[in-house]
Amino acid sequence: MNISPSSSEDRPLLHAQKLAKSFNGTPALRDAELSVAAGEIVAVAGPSGSGKSTLLHCLAGILVPDDGFVRYGDREVSRLPDVARSKLRRNEFGFVFQFGGLVAELSIEENIALPLLLAHGGRRRAALHEANVWLERFALDGLARRRPGELSGGEAQRVAVARAMAHRPRVVFADEPTGALDSAAGDIVLTALTEAARTQGTSVVLITHDARVAARADRTVRVEDGRTREDDADMPGSADHRTVRK
Ligand code: ADP
Repeated sequence: MNISPSSSEDRPLLHAQKLAKSFNGTPALRDAELSVAAGEIVAVAGPSGSGKSTLLHCLAGILVPDDGFVRYGDREVSRLPDVARSKLRRNEFGFVFQFGGLVAELSIEENIALPLLLAHGGRRRAALHEANVWLERFALDGLARRRPGELSGGEAQRVAVARAMAHRPRVVFADEPTGALDSAAGDIVLTALTEAARTQGTSVVLITHDARVAARADRTVRVEDGRTREDDADMPGSADHRTVRK
């Protein structure tokens, strides 16, 4: 496979190859690879325990693979020192986890303002203002002063998506963001995630067990026993999958 495309436009924003990672001697990833273009939404599917989260965490610079590499733009994520990797995560990436991961003690607007302050610094008042712009965009403006414990699961996940997008990351990593939701709430979260990605050209890497969720991604990559493979079996017109939609 050609990993040195001729022009930088063809070059994926995020590219991982030959990833291997073991826990206590047991391989979780072996020879996994994944490429994500700017603005592309990639679903990661596969059985429980197959290595999806490990792959996501290696891509996002949370875990360092034992072997192989993860490249983000010109940087080799897996070789960056810890401080540089956490800076990269804070500034360039956004995260949505299955149960939202909101800070219980903070109000909803403060939860969204937090990554903004961490990524861009600036004033609390300006970050709260920006947080409220995002709440409005996600039709959540009535919830600004509530605490996460006072929201429904669907609301909390939409807040988590707003929080992940607010500092305008280049890539959002979502680990089963709809897994704890009924299908209507899951649909709202997915729509929020994909629309925000489309309007900002953000790439999304999304772990899901749900075929309906995967069907809304540009591409699906399956992970089985720590190995990846492209899954375009049920995607007619797959030649267009790498097209970046704006
Ligand atoms: P998935 O996301 O597909 O369910 P994971 O990537 O979470 O799979 O896990 C892959 C394998 O690695 C599993 O066998 C899991 O038990 C193991 N694993 C994942 N994270 C750890 C960890 N921090 N410590 C030990 N084993 C782990």
